[in-house]
Amino acid sequence: MKFTDLGLDDVILKAVDEEGYTQPTLIQEEAIPNVLDGRDVMAAAQTGTGKTASFTLPMLHRLLRYANSSTSPAKHPVRALILTPTRELAAQVDESARRYGKHLSLRVGCVYGGVPMNPQVAMLRSGVEILVATPGRLLDHVGTNNVRFSSVEFLVLDEADRMLDMGFLPDIKRIVELIPATRQTLLFSATYSEDIRRLAGDWLRNPVKVEVAPRNTVTETIKHTVLHVAERDKSTQLVKLLQEGKVSQALVFCNTKMGANRLTRQLQNKDIHSEAIHSDRSQIERTAALDNFKAGKTKVLVATDIAARGLDIEQLPHVVNYDLPHNSEDYVHRIGRTGRAGQKGEAISFCTPEDKESVRAIEKLINKKLEVTEPIRVKRSSAPTQIRQSRAKDEESRDDSFFSKPYEAPGGISVPNTTTDKKTASTAINKSEKKKPIAALFMPPTGRKKS
Ligand code: AMP
Repeated sequence: MKFTDLGLDDVILKAVDEEGYTQPTLIQEEAIPNVLDGRDVMAAAQTGTGKTASFTLPMLHRLLRYANSSTSPAKHPVRALILTPTRELAAQVDESARRYGKHLSLRVGCVYGGVPMNPQVAMLRSGVEILVATPGRLLDHVGTNNVRFSSVEFLVLDEADRMLDMGFLPDIKRIVELIPATRQTLLFSATYSEDIRRLAGDWLRNPVKVEVAPRNTVTETIKHTVLHVAERDKSTQLVKLLQEGKVSQALVFCNTKMGANRLTRQLQNKDIHSEAIHSDRSQIERTAALDNFKAGKTKVLVATDIAARGLDIEQLPHVVNYDLPHNSEDYVHRIGRTGRAGQKGEAISFCTPEDKESVRAIEKLINKKLEVTEPIRVKRSSAPTQIRQSRAKDEESRDDSFFSKPYEAPGGISVPNTTTDKKTASTAINKSEKKKPIAALFMPPTGRKKS
């Protein structure tokens, strides 16, 4: 199928052509005609399938009739509201909508927490047809009457499963109640839980169900590798993978902010350009780190799960699970950063003896066996007790602000919930850790030969 077969206006096709897209992806083939027909859509689409364009392109088409260059705010009410779980995803959807709509006189704006309100207030007050938002900050603007939803015709719930995971359900309910019932609603979710189905039942009218991949599957172009490694040998392993060129550039996931900071410093000490991205870094720092990574200035972006959603990095060859996620659905989200739009990618997961259950849960969820590399023999240096102690500290500083459920850390430490935009404890790294010895210095060849 060609883009020209989908019924999109020529000005939109022009922008698509300028993006270099030659063919619609599966989700685009399925969703675009239905959205153009005015149908509600419930789509199970994993990240990297082209889902953003699948709702943005037809939405722009249907909003074309409102395009105008008047300076009057009254001529630019919010017509489409796109809710996303994270700031990064909001920024990316905003950017995509601007690119796809660059030949139209429709305004696109974005609001999310962690940055000053005032520029957002000015943008909202001058009028914007397409608004991308995270729920918490949007409600702040609702509370101060900066935005009205009486003209909203489209509601998009992007990565709805993640919004529920992050505890946004009450916020989303409040927002949905403010939007006219005559709207068209599009719900996108990487995974379909019973909760998501229930919400779809409440908020969507006779939706067309689009499922481009079976539930909880991952892109076929991704190779999954598990690397058996002791906790204390992880950083050495990673350094070797990078230095030997087995991994050229990687998004590396840690389960804690402190772990991410420490790993970043260890890599930097080995002259590997690395930056960390997590919720204790300011939005400006996060954006700069992401831009540097996208531009190839940094080789490694070390992230906590906050970054798992919404990061769209073209041709990212590797995702490394330095720590396996506690929630196996996060595995799907994390590795969705590679193998995008049909390209090849590799997900390498470091697996300690304690992680075996997690690996089994992941395999069950994605219905696929992870390719296991032989256990790695490592020469040990003397007792790495300090490292174990610092790991325990990491459990306490887990990036909990992005999890709605209480986190049960191994050893029974329970970390209470906080809300997404709330600042959490400082990430200052204990200076005594700087001199910590790195235990393992030898790494035998990793991985089987690529098939
Ligand atoms: P998404 O799943 O929306 O995050 O999109 C993943 C990536 O696929 C983005 O970098 C898009 O620019 C790209 N993309 C979207 N649609 C197409 C297409 N039809 N052909 C090629 N790339 C696409």
